[in-house]
Amino acid sequence: MNQRPNFSALPVALDPAKAIYDFTIPANQPWTGIVRRGQVLRIIDVEGQQAVDTLFYSLADTSERYSAQDTILEQGAPYVTTGTRLMSNIGNVLATVVADTCGRHDTSAGACSCEANIVRFGHHTKYMHACRENFIVAMSRHGMTKRDIVPNINFFMNVPIEPDGKLAIVDGVSRPGDHVDILAAMDLISAISNCPQVNNPCNGFNPTPVRVMIFDPAIA
Ligand SMILES: [Zn+2]
Repeated sequence: MNQRPNFSALPVALDPAKAIYDFTIPANQPWTGIVRRGQVLRIIDVEGQQAVDTLFYSLADTSERYSAQDTILEQGAPYVTTGTRLMSNIGNVLATVVADTCGRHDTSAGACSCEANIVRFGHHTKYMHACRENFIVAMSRHGMTKRDIVPNINFFMNVPIEPDGKLAIVDGVSRPGDHVDILAAMDLISAISNCPQVNNPCNGFNPTPVRVMIFDPAIA
């Protein structure tokens, strides 16, 4: 099977009125959806500066899933943007980012967890809701558990890699309405944690809704 998306068949512009799926994920909440091969998942940062923690799994075999390490290796670049092939843990292309109005997305910093929040922000954050809990809820809908959570993509999250190799988490750069379009190269389960973190500058200290749309160019 040819895993490489056919770029010549890409829609030039996707008409929002022709989306086959359109849902607004409330602030703080998890979401999952099925995106079929050839369909496009659009993620819209409705109000801007919202971290959208995202994972992809092969629908046919969920042991094949997004690999941040293989994606960085495949690109030879640390950020996700237009043209980035999102790789699986066994070296297949899961999807390709075909449009991006923001320009740069993190896939190094991982999802926030209660443990990481204590280290970053202090002990008073121990019982705050985190992306890891959202992912556990999201994946339980597909028979998966905590052990299935792997390092993710943080769409719209601004995590500069400093010259000494450390990650900085700073103010988000996405504006209201910024979006990414992701073309599925195989049938996928997509899981999103709309990050609930209130201590994080790249979330604007204020989690906000994101909108997901699915387009099927074959029928649009
Ligand atoms: Zn988070």
